[in-house]
Amino acid sequence: MDLTQGHTYLAIPGPSVMPEAVLRAMHRSAPNIYEGELIDLTYGVVRDLKTVARTAHNVAIYIGNGHAAWEAALANVIEPGDTVLVPTTGSFGHGWGEMAAGLGAECEVLDFGRRTSIDPARVAEALAGDSAHKIKAVLAVHVDTSTSARSDIAALRKAMDATGHPALLMVDCIASFGCDRFEMDAWGVDVMVAACQKGLMVPPGVSFVYFNDKAAKRRSEIARVSRYWDWTPRANPEVYYQLFCGTAPTHHLYGLRAALDLILAEGLDHVWSRHEVLAQAIWAACDAWSAVGPLELNIQETSGRSHAVTSLRIGQEHGTRLRRWCQDQAGLTLGIGLGMATEEDPKSDGFFRFGHMGHVNAQMIMGLLATVQAGMIALDIPHGPGAVEAAAKVVARA
Ligand SMILES: *Cc1c(COP(=O)(O)O)cnc(C)c1O
Repeated sequence: MDLTQGHTYLAIPGPSVMPEAVLRAMHRSAPNIYEGELIDLTYGVVRDLKTVARTAHNVAIYIGNGHAAWEAALANVIEPGDTVLVPTTGSFGHGWGEMAAGLGAECEVLDFGRRTSIDPARVAEALAGDSAHKIKAVLAVHVDTSTSARSDIAALRKAMDATGHPALLMVDCIASFGCDRFEMDAWGVDVMVAACQKGLMVPPGVSFVYFNDKAAKRRSEIARVSRYWDWTPRANPEVYYQLFCGTAPTHHLYGLRAALDLILAEGLDHVWSRHEVLAQAIWAACDAWSAVGPLELNIQETSGRSHAVTSLRIGQEHGTRLRRWCQDQAGLTLGIGLGMATEEDPKSDGFFRFGHMGHVNAQMIMGLLATVQAGMIALDIPHGPGAVEAAAKVVARA
């Protein structure tokens, strides 16, 4: 029986669930973009975006999705013929590397497969072997959304520093921003990219490139940077329109204001802890399920798991069947397996993901887990007992 009426839950790893406060803030008539409240509101958003990234440096805002931020970041520091080192833990590292290749960079990929985090020692080894300093940047993804692998960015910085190599550390935090702990300045990140539709709970359309002084210096040495992607006037505008190189994304700014208010009212540390506990509840359920039958967490090592997305393996057919059941019978949309097998390959039906980023709480996650449990029962997918109970214990202890 179709039981989908009521609030649906889009539990895919972005776009994420939008809070009522964000939707209400965006539901309004067009503001004046030349004077008035939008101007002050924007500078407040810029200030608070830095707070959430734990940085005192610069942020440039782009009207575009995460791919736009990838290109924007690269366009400011990479010239044709430069080499970038790309340690990958899933699809998104490859995607960023391809973006660099499209701008004429040589792309050196260090592939860590799809089930582990970046090994900083191997990155350091690659840098140590580059005595000519051809490598201008290391492009690392904090949380790879396809595999749900999370890498230790502070450790990566330490390993890079130990080699004395001058390459910039550029980090993709699109999936982790506002979910997993990230400290741009304390961790020594030179460039960071994020977007608004995941942990920031705003519909897709705005993305961010953060950069420190070392990256700004590198930017100043680049002979030619596209005027549109140039981060300099965006980060330090003399007049308001330079913030966006044109018309402001008016309604996104109202949405962002509301989202940042939610995050700051809760407290960033609490936001990170909430995501951690809810992730632990999910892992506890998955551990119980995987005691019998085909379900398996993609990332075995707890410390290498994202708190915002969880990738699962459940064997051919089951992943797609389970997603369909949850969506069609219960109003819960789960994420497809991404990059685990090509779409035409029947094996791709054996993967799925939980998105648990941004506006999520205990009852949503408990509902998600109990619904998946119901789906496995309905579809006769073998699974171990006690999953919902195990998750409840994590929530109860929090
Ligand atoms: C979602 C995501 C992207 C791409 O963002 P788009 O808005 O889809 O362009 C890049 N990197 C990571 C880690 C992501 O999660």
